[in-house]
Amino acid sequence: MSTAQPPNPAGSADSAPATAADRPVDLAGIGIGPFNLSLAALAHGVPALRTAFYEQRPAFHWHPGLLIDGATIQVPFLADLVTLADPGSPWTFLQYLKAHERLFPFYIAERFQIERAEYDAYCRWVSERLPGLHFDHRVDAVRWDHEYELFEIDLTRLGPAADGPASGAPAFGAARTDEEGRALGRVYARNLVLGVGTEPYVPEPLRPLADAPNVPVLHSSDYLEHRERLLATGHVTVIGSGQSGAEVFLDLLRNRPLGAEGLHWMARTPAFAPMEYSKLGLEQFSPDYTRYFHTLPEPVRDQLLPRQWQLYKGIAHETLDAIHHELYRRALHSDGWPGAVLTPGVTVRTAGRIAAAQLELHLEHTEQGTRARHTTEAVVLATGYRERRVDTLLAALDPYIRRDASERPRVDAEHRLVLDPMIKGSVYVQNAERHTHGVGTPDLGLAAWRSAVILNSLLADPAYRLPSRTAFTAFGLQPSGRCGTVIGDPHLPDQRTPLTPTRT
Ligand SMILES: Cc1cc2nc3c(=O)[nH]c(=O)nc-3n(C[C@H](O)[C@H](O)[C@H](O)COP(=O)(O)OP(=O)(O)OC[C@H]3O[C@@H](n4cnc5c(N)ncnc54)[C@H](O)[C@@H]3O)c2cc1C
Repeated sequence: MSTAQPPNPAGSADSAPATAADRPVDLAGIGIGPFNLSLAALAHGVPALRTAFYEQRPAFHWHPGLLIDGATIQVPFLADLVTLADPGSPWTFLQYLKAHERLFPFYIAERFQIERAEYDAYCRWVSERLPGLHFDHRVDAVRWDHEYELFEIDLTRLGPAADGPASGAPAFGAARTDEEGRALGRVYARNLVLGVGTEPYVPEPLRPLADAPNVPVLHSSDYLEHRERLLATGHVTVIGSGQSGAEVFLDLLRNRPLGAEGLHWMARTPAFAPMEYSKLGLEQFSPDYTRYFHTLPEPVRDQLLPRQWQLYKGIAHETLDAIHHELYRRALHSDGWPGAVLTPGVTVRTAGRIAAAQLELHLEHTEQGTRARHTTEAVVLATGYRERRVDTLLAALDPYIRRDASERPRVDAEHRLVLDPMIKGSVYVQNAERHTHGVGTPDLGLAAWRSAVILNSLLADPAYRLPSRTAFTAFGLQPSGRCGTVIGDPHLPDQRTPLTPTRT
């Protein structure tokens, strides 16, 4: 599959309507979360490349339901959209602070991890200024047009064209409309990038309650929308031992009446465990480790990922400390233990509504092998996210997608789907390749690097010089001065000479 496409001479991000197949963009992006926004920002620095990005939401919003006051992102501010690939970019977090005259206050604040609300505002600031971003546009289907040798992308414009100041014209020209009068259109692209992110996951036993209208069972992604109602509810149960679960529990705990907290935090995991955050541990979120992980045999990758759960499923130790501190403070100011219970190691087997304002969860304690009924008035499901399903979106491409032994799409080192050679263009994925690229896949710290890898692979001459080394840990055996021939490395020519054991 040729990647180095002749750049389109027509100039930068697509502001003129990309209607006909004779005006394809070089790269079309589906979804504008942080990862495709990073790609758009770095692509902006490559005038030869024409790009267009489509987002179904009316504007950029990053996990709005969890922008809890004081909650910080779990990576340093340098993990912004562009800095780790291009610190001189106009779209860095520091440029955003400069534009808001906040550089000195930030420098004096000496905070490495910024509030989630500030990260959201920074990304929105970039999204409102970058050309070629089309909000209120949902991509419905993509297919490969063998005649034009281009990807054909069907879109629905969901709202009045809000394509951002710079792009001006709507994403597509003359359009048909659907039964709701929404404009339907088609654009063409030489290459695609899927950045559709994740969607909230609700465990099966709780799905009927979560789907039922007016039943206070909600996913943590909608927490802030329901916060006031939850604070006014007599008893609330939070399920899930990840960062979101901890933050929701802490926020409720801090805002419930002293001595009448009426809270229960439960999780399947044997403990409310801290996230692995040691410096050498964090090197597994480096490009070196991502490259190494991609070289491993598929079964080894599949065994490794669940064992690394503490790298992406734990809780920031600051949050755990804040919870313990708040519980202690409350014990101090009320006569006895606070009315907040924390129970790890329990699974919700079934759940139901037993009265207008009463819910009942049937619990099983894994280690004890015991069962119990737990009644509560509201449930917050901090039960995580799953990669958004793209089968419908990619249905027409499905026959050309090469899959691994578990029927997952194969993804090459440049984050491209491995496709049948009949497809001349590339389909890149962002945050859908954990099975091939490892724990760093959803990490904001790798956003800029991955975007640069994708852009470089599209161009004859790489636009961004990337570091050849990014970690002190040497992942895997690598031939070096002291380390002789590496036998069995699939990536090195087979130089099988029997190793003679060194006689001590
Ligand atoms: C609450 C929360 C906090 C997190 N905090 C951190 C953190 O601190 N540090 C860190 O490293 N990672 C963090 N993560 C993980 C990760 O960085 C985020 O999930 C990040 O938002 C992923 O970005 P994304 O671009 O892949 O997807 P998303 O942010 O999910 O964006 C995808 C976008 O695609 C759009 N879309 C989907 N389908 C279509 C379609 N057919 N047409 C048009 N648009 C479409 C969606 O509307 C959405 O806006 C966090 C995750 C969550 C849930």
